[in-house]
Amino acid sequence: MSHPLSPGSVIGMLGSGQLGRMTALAAAPLGLRTHVFAPEPGPATLVTDLYTRAAYDDEDALARFAATVDVVTYEFENVPARTAAFLAGRVPVRPGPAALGICQHRVSEKTFLRDAGIPTTGWRAVSNAAEVAAAADALGRPCVLKTARFGYDGKGQTIVRPGTDAADAWRVIAGDKAELDAIVEAFVDFRLEASVVVARGFRGEVAAYELVENRHRDHILHQTIVPADVSDTVRTEADAIARTVVEALDYVGVLGVEMFVTHDGQVLVNELAPRPHNSGHWTQDGAVTCQFEQHARAVAGLPLGSVARVGDAVMTNLLGDDVDQVPTWLAEPHAKVHLYGKTEARAGRKMGHVNVISPRRG
Ligand code: AMP
Repeated sequence: MSHPLSPGSVIGMLGSGQLGRMTALAAAPLGLRTHVFAPEPGPATLVTDLYTRAAYDDEDALARFAATVDVVTYEFENVPARTAAFLAGRVPVRPGPAALGICQHRVSEKTFLRDAGIPTTGWRAVSNAAEVAAAADALGRPCVLKTARFGYDGKGQTIVRPGTDAADAWRVIAGDKAELDAIVEAFVDFRLEASVVVARGFRGEVAAYELVENRHRDHILHQTIVPADVSDTVRTEADAIARTVVEALDYVGVLGVEMFVTHDGQVLVNELAPRPHNSGHWTQDGAVTCQFEQHARAVAGLPLGSVARVGDAVMTNLLGDDVDQVPTWLAEPHAKVHLYGKTEARAGRKMGHVNVISPRRG
């Protein structure tokens, strides 16, 4: 597909979560349909009539899926590499499998960032407890030990403090496995956590939403505040970093760049999310084009939309029992409630979010 998709075309979506749901909803006004491929139904299949329920390694099902869609994208980064490669042999996959592979592994991600000249905290690849001890000696304590794969929302990571035995830290992330791909990172004493959601179109055009501040609770995003309370220098630096990342990855689609802003104004990249990002949900009500429409536009080869902000925004995640507050939120005149259609409100589960938009001050 080298030309823009025309109305009636179908985006194939790997994954049935809320990011896929919101992308499908935002693609619809562009005349684009979404076909979800996932082993289990979820928030996305509640809003699409096209759904293939199959395992990610079911090549017959993948081949049938590929034959009925015009482009394939995904809404979570742990799509198996073989699945992405199999599909890429049949239909355009955007973002491409190479970018996906880099973002799936913390060591390849940090190596990519280093090679692209993008600042991060100090780090070392490790694969056993002895290497953790050596890395902690080299980087200093406290430092953070993380699994290279499948970590999210603080899972698969632990802090190595001055008194921590490396073997104990290893057990926290690796259980009884003696060897595992992992990374040790120097601890960042940050002033705030921030992110830039950036899009790159099929023809290489780039549009970055402005830097936002992210506040976490128990390692899970709680609120995104827009605009972030940072200097223009930090804002410009963050924007330049995000642009460099998508160029260097030859990326097509929306990508979240998670960052730390240090007390002395340095911007360090923490990690990359090759998909729309929770910290970009404010754009649904606070920007001319929301990140989900932007992702659909990019993967469909359409021009990117304006990322201009129309107001100040606070996005609050509704986690677990927080959904009980929905009636209160609905009574707030400037609150926009977005629920994902999940019925079981387990602790910490992302059930929805609320955007409160107020007139722009800056
Ligand atoms: P991650 O899974 O890498 O996004 O990490 C989850 C959270 O852990 C981040 O949002 C930070 O609050 C914290 N964190 C991760 N890495 C570091 C680090 N190197 N230094 C300080 N805090 C960190």
